[in-house]
Amino acid sequence: MRYISVVLFSFAVSFSSQAKLVVVTTTTTLKNLVEEVGRDRVSVISLTKSTQDPHFVEAKPSYMVKLRKADMLVEVGLDLEVGWIGNVQRGAKNPVIINGGPGFFSAGDYVKAIEVPKLKVDRSQGDVHPYGNPHFHLDPNRIVTVVQALGKKLSKLDPASKEFYQNNADHFANKIKSSLPGWHSRVELSKVKNVVTYHKSLNYFLTSFGLHSVSSIEPHPGIPPTAKHIIGLIRQIRQEKVRCILNESYFETTAGERLRKETGAVLQVVPVEVQTDYFELIEALVHAVEECGKGAEGV
Ligand SMILES: [Zn+2]
Repeated sequence: MRYISVVLFSFAVSFSSQAKLVVVTTTTTLKNLVEEVGRDRVSVISLTKSTQDPHFVEAKPSYMVKLRKADMLVEVGLDLEVGWIGNVQRGAKNPVIINGGPGFFSAGDYVKAIEVPKLKVDRSQGDVHPYGNPHFHLDPNRIVTVVQALGKKLSKLDPASKEFYQNNADHFANKIKSSLPGWHSRVELSKVKNVVTYHKSLNYFLTSFGLHSVSSIEPHPGIPPTAKHIIGLIRQIRQEKVRCILNESYFETTAGERLRKETGAVLQVVPVEVQTDYFELIEALVHAVEECGKGAEGV
């Protein structure tokens, strides 16, 4: 009897682990979104940590091993991971997750990008994203669209759970919709209008919350600030009464600290990717704006 129950138990364990879709994502934010939709029917690994800059990642052999048996690869897209994900996909030798394969999902295919260059870009303009700004994950409205598309993709890979995925995607969308008014009114009450960031990572967040991106600490994407650029920024912060510097946590803060000391604007170091869940990420950004509103002096 004991033997039979052990056999049955191990069968149940192996069956349930086989039934889960194995999903690999490039960022922790995408991991969280896939988990919101797939819950216990997916097993998700993120290739990068929440504190890591997803533009520049080393294509490690261990990533290829993770992708070898994956049912699905979820990337941000719009060329954010262009420097490394192609090598990982090739090295994985898994036809399912190559571009155009049945398990490939590029979130950027489902959103309208901002800051799409009008002219052909070249490297002298820095590490410019040729298909527009790829950091759309900080706009909750665009993320609802991505989550609905994820629901459809998971349903194609696992049709028996279609209703389950659809319901979870709808639940996430409703939770976002009910959180938005509170977030918006808190940003409005902060009276913050103009913001300086390090990179253009926060521009979708700023646009969607009615804030204005005055300038970036880096003069061009991927190019560290020069002394001349910082002096120009100090002047601009004073002239345009910028009270808020949001420094994305995966970039250095020395230049941001200098701007804070020289201008009296508040410096907030903010997360860019999900640490626990998507709501906490947006909550942290809204809170940082509130702190800017409270703490600015002399501007
Ligand atoms: Zn970028």
